[in-house]
Amino acid sequence: MSLFPEPDYQIASVLLPMPLPEAFDYRLHEDMKVELGQFVTVPLGARSVTGVVWSLKDGPSKRPLKYVESVLESAPLLPQVIRDFVDRSAKYTCTPLGNMLAMCMRSRDALLPSPVENYVFKKQGAPSRLTPARQKVLSIAPDTAQAGITAAELARQAGVSAGVIKGLIEADALGQEEFPIDKPFRKPNSELKGFDLTDEQQAGADALCEAVRSQTFKPILLDGVTGSGKTEVYFEAIAEALRIDQTAQILVLLPEIALTQAVRERFENRFGAAPAEWHSNATQKERRRVWREVGAGRAQIVVGARSALFLPFQNLRLIIVDEEHDGSYKQDEGAVYQGRDLSVMRAHIGAATVVLASATPSLETLANAYQGRYQHIKLLARPGAAVLPDILLADMKQNPPAKDCWLSPLLIDALEQNLDAGEQSLLYLNRRGYAPLVICKGCGERLKAPDTESWLTEHRYTGMLVCHLTGFMMKKPVNCPHCGAADSLMGVGPGVERLAEEVRGLFQGARVEVFSSDTAKSPEELNGIIHRMEQGQVDILIGTQIAAKGHNFPNLTLVGAVDADSGLKGGQGSDLRAGERTFQLLSQVSGRAGRADKPGRAIIQTYAPDSPSIQALLANDRDWFMELEMKSREDLGFPPFGRLAAVVISAENSLAADDAASAFVQGAPNVDGVDIWGPAPAPIAVLRGRHRRRLLIRSNRNVDLSAYVSSWRERIKLSSSVRVSLDIEPYSF
Ligand code: ADP
Repeated sequence: MSLFPEPDYQIASVLLPMPLPEAFDYRLHEDMKVELGQFVTVPLGARSVTGVVWSLKDGPSKRPLKYVESVLESAPLLPQVIRDFVDRSAKYTCTPLGNMLAMCMRSRDALLPSPVENYVFKKQGAPSRLTPARQKVLSIAPDTAQAGITAAELARQAGVSAGVIKGLIEADALGQEEFPIDKPFRKPNSELKGFDLTDEQQAGADALCEAVRSQTFKPILLDGVTGSGKTEVYFEAIAEALRIDQTAQILVLLPEIALTQAVRERFENRFGAAPAEWHSNATQKERRRVWREVGAGRAQIVVGARSALFLPFQNLRLIIVDEEHDGSYKQDEGAVYQGRDLSVMRAHIGAATVVLASATPSLETLANAYQGRYQHIKLLARPGAAVLPDILLADMKQNPPAKDCWLSPLLIDALEQNLDAGEQSLLYLNRRGYAPLVICKGCGERLKAPDTESWLTEHRYTGMLVCHLTGFMMKKPVNCPHCGAADSLMGVGPGVERLAEEVRGLFQGARVEVFSSDTAKSPEELNGIIHRMEQGQVDILIGTQIAAKGHNFPNLTLVGAVDADSGLKGGQGSDLRAGERTFQLLSQVSGRAGRADKPGRAIIQTYAPDSPSIQALLANDRDWFMELEMKSREDLGFPPFGRLAAVVISAENSLAADDAASAFVQGAPNVDGVDIWGPAPAPIAVLRGRHRRRLLIRSNRNVDLSAYVSSWRERIKLSSSVRVSLDIEPYSF
């Protein structure tokens, strides 16, 4: 025993939101009390960083420790379930623990106390001197401070100077009160009535409500044809969750672009209160408000994109993943994860119900349902008079378009009939811009982005050439940058802008609009297009994927898929998911037609009428198609029958990338039931100037592939200019 034993003290392991694999130990001052999950600031080098207390233990420590600097008293605790979720999801996705925590801390200023603002309100009694300006102010000032009007806002509304307001406050004619600027969300009302449900919908709603009442982990596939009322059905489950637990929180995940004004209004009408929204377009102020309100348990219904899964829910009872098959649930940068799968994990940890809703469920989810791991609820019919659209094929070999055109005579006829009938049409072509490729007529050069291998797309509305991968942009040059020939550059192939040109030429006077991420950049533009469609101000909408999903346009009765095969043709190499994705997209886009009382039809233009995805669509036989796909995955031992991971190794030049990739492969641990393929050029072989190689690692289901890949990564030493990214559920393979 030492003569001067160091007195015992407490040690907090603090996890920091940065690429670190574990929490760091800090010493606590004697008078500092912290709890698990508390936000604290600690020194890191010369900086002071905010992190979360991950564990607590008694000192002394073997090595000298720095002290925790302060405790963020005003921030909510990060609950145990969320810390467990961070631990498990980091392990599963092979993401550094700190990076996963960073997902939970995506509102920069949310941890600080809420700033306050002075709100003004009308007081009883008039001022002794009543000028017209003062009168104007008093006529519009609210009766209570709850209305939340600041002095500046009131001055603006009344059209008077700040001095007038100041004078009224001094004269005691206006009162002031301080409030936190984060306005609380209104409590949703579970007792408002929705539609009278059909028998089939009611049975589905009953099953969901029963799962919610069980208060245990229940994964459910809500499998209903487009327009069958899946939203109405899961609304019942939300109402039930609120009914049985006053403090219940519910998360509805939507693909990012699906969060529209129309969706917002649907929630508001059904629950009498606006939902909290979490998405990438939100302002810092709004993010802060939502994060705080979720953490305080006051935001009860949250509608958001995939990262909403990492909000600090205190009592998350129900998660809905709408359009669960959608590719946008997969995050490819930073923390690489599949939002749908992490939703199931989150529900499991929190003993909650998770509902995966889709008309075209992913193969993984269907397999889980077939094997009994997920409850399977089906909705086979559209309610009322709405019926599923008729699907017709336009075989482009037999029914070719005119030269330099893209619409077959069959589709042109149908468009004409629809125009005559005063009904709306949607042409779907998943290519932004005017032409997907720009070629020089002189030398044959195809224009590429400088730091990727991808072709530049011509955007005629803006006169730019754009790389859709990185956002690189340049003005379209007059001369070919390769051979210098003048006026020799020409766009090849159709994009939505070019299709719009063709349609306007064919149908003069028709109201044609393009709907793509270029014309719907802001929420205002997006809502504008949807509004004009709803109001019947558009006859023919020409849209990319953004138009294919979720929208409900009652007068839309014709959908034309202009290039149905585009998803099947290479580009991504031999992607096993290509058929599945094509089928899903075409079903979704066809499903936009005939959603109300007028019947709809979809015309599918294809050069491959015999491909299984097209045949299945025609026969309306999804299950046959999915079983076929499942069989081929099973034969290869691919997900969901085996596990798959991708490792992308990138370096500044091609040689270094090859060397690093071979070194990586040579260091592979030898484990039974694991196959390694590659290295091969990654599907995106060059990105932002970095050369990329990919390995695919397949294993049997009983192998813990995450652990295998993590331990492999740890034993390889590579030069610091080489980057390795791990993806445990690659979206394309
Ligand atoms: P899904 O989510 O399956 O595509 P929605 O829930 O959006 O379907 O429903 C499609 C349309 O049908 C919506 O306009 C919805 O309001 C309407 N609808 C759904 N169920 C009913 C019902 N029982 N009675 C009347 N209208 C309904």
